[in-house]
Amino acid sequence: MNLPYAEPYKTKMVEYIKPSTIEERKQWIKEADYNLFNLTSEKVFIDLLTDSGTGAMSDKQWAEMMVGDESYAGSQSFLKLKETVKRITGFDYFLPTHQGRAAENVLFSVLVKEGDVIPGNSHFDTTKGHIEFRKASTLDCTIDEAFNTTVYHPFKGNVNIEKLETALKNNPKNNIPFVIVTVTCNSAGGQPVSMQNIKEVSKICKKYHIPLIIDAARFAENAYFIKIREDRYKEATIKEIVKEFFSYADGMTMSAKKDGLVNMGGFIALNDEEVYKKATVYNIMFEGFITYGGLNGRDMGALAVGLDEATEFDYLETRIKQVAYLGTQLVEFGVPVQQPFGGHAIFLDANKFVPTIPRDEFRAQALAIELYIVGGIRGVEIGTILADRDPFTHKNRYPELELVRLAIPRRTYSLNHMKYIASVIKEIYATRSEAKRGYRIIEEAPIMRHFTVKLEKITD
Ligand SMILES: *Cc1c(COP(=O)(O)O)cnc(C)c1O
Repeated sequence: MNLPYAEPYKTKMVEYIKPSTIEERKQWIKEADYNLFNLTSEKVFIDLLTDSGTGAMSDKQWAEMMVGDESYAGSQSFLKLKETVKRITGFDYFLPTHQGRAAENVLFSVLVKEGDVIPGNSHFDTTKGHIEFRKASTLDCTIDEAFNTTVYHPFKGNVNIEKLETALKNNPKNNIPFVIVTVTCNSAGGQPVSMQNIKEVSKICKKYHIPLIIDAARFAENAYFIKIREDRYKEATIKEIVKEFFSYADGMTMSAKKDGLVNMGGFIALNDEEVYKKATVYNIMFEGFITYGGLNGRDMGALAVGLDEATEFDYLETRIKQVAYLGTQLVEFGVPVQQPFGGHAIFLDANKFVPTIPRDEFRAQALAIELYIVGGIRGVEIGTILADRDPFTHKNRYPELELVRLAIPRRTYSLNHMKYIASVIKEIYATRSEAKRGYRIIEEAPIMRHFTVKLEKITD
């Protein structure tokens, strides 16, 4: 008998969220200059801005908060976390940091210098930022299928092996300090990387003596996709898959705000003692002593438990099926969404949803605003506003895709919430032909304008 799945947890504490009316939200979003980042949280009913640090901790994690060891040096909570990281990832050397980008800052201070090139699948924004800040550059070697929303590929986060090998082979300046593979590939929409692919990447890296680093924020969700989609691993446990996956790499940076199931935290884990020793110096400078790295003892304890809970199949199954449930409902309603569904988010394709709104009036942003006004749902624009202006011509850059990302926090919303979200989007989709005008910018920052941009509605 094939039993249906259900959440392997029940609720012990609830947090009320505030319903509001369409009229109120029209007023609030106007006051926020039509920028969803400007809304205070009580004005949002369902918050899908990000899945980063927005999940719910378990009773066991909260219990760890009470027994956290706040000793400056040699904290027991640090030891608990270090042992857990070793058991789950296999890496010997471990440094806590306050979040993922801090792990990048510390590790890249050791490994990246001016003129370097760092190949990988699509690099995450902060990863790219920390590389480019050091006057080095990234080389995107993601497979072509990742950039086509209509073709199905089970592992759209995969690295194009030929492209990678060409880069590593033609490396006359010896300026490739490492290869970085992001799992799941956030910039490609939460798409996974297969075990077969990481194995091949590892083989090529070894051939050319270049270390392989994993940007591991969603490593557990990635392992779930390997179990479900890669035949050889269907009998393996998530923990076995995770351990094998990391065995092909030399180190990792982690944003624990994702698959660490905590609200704040990060770390670096490595095999190489030399790199670790150099990294400790930067960790002490930027983050704190090596046994806390910007984290409270209690936070390290909660993270140790979170890593164990995130690498359990039943949890991952409800997590990823909840995201897919929302996606499937939308597909049934005929709403254009990116497929296959990512592990942590559903992406609405605004080019197909509201082609009637001119691109220079920010159609994805217009759709995100409509979602807020109609349903109190806060998503985020991944389109022209996010793409910023060209630094030389100062013209808007129009990316191929105009998306609205609906990121689903972990263990936070119910299936009923997903139904509600899908119904709201269905309503908006039914009246989409009436959407003709979008927004114009009245104030913007020179870079990363999406956080602070001010917009006005075009009515003429
Ligand atoms: C979130 C994230 C980071 C940065 O981590 P923070 O904890 O937000 O600093 C790096 N890489 C990936 C893939 C991420 O998703």
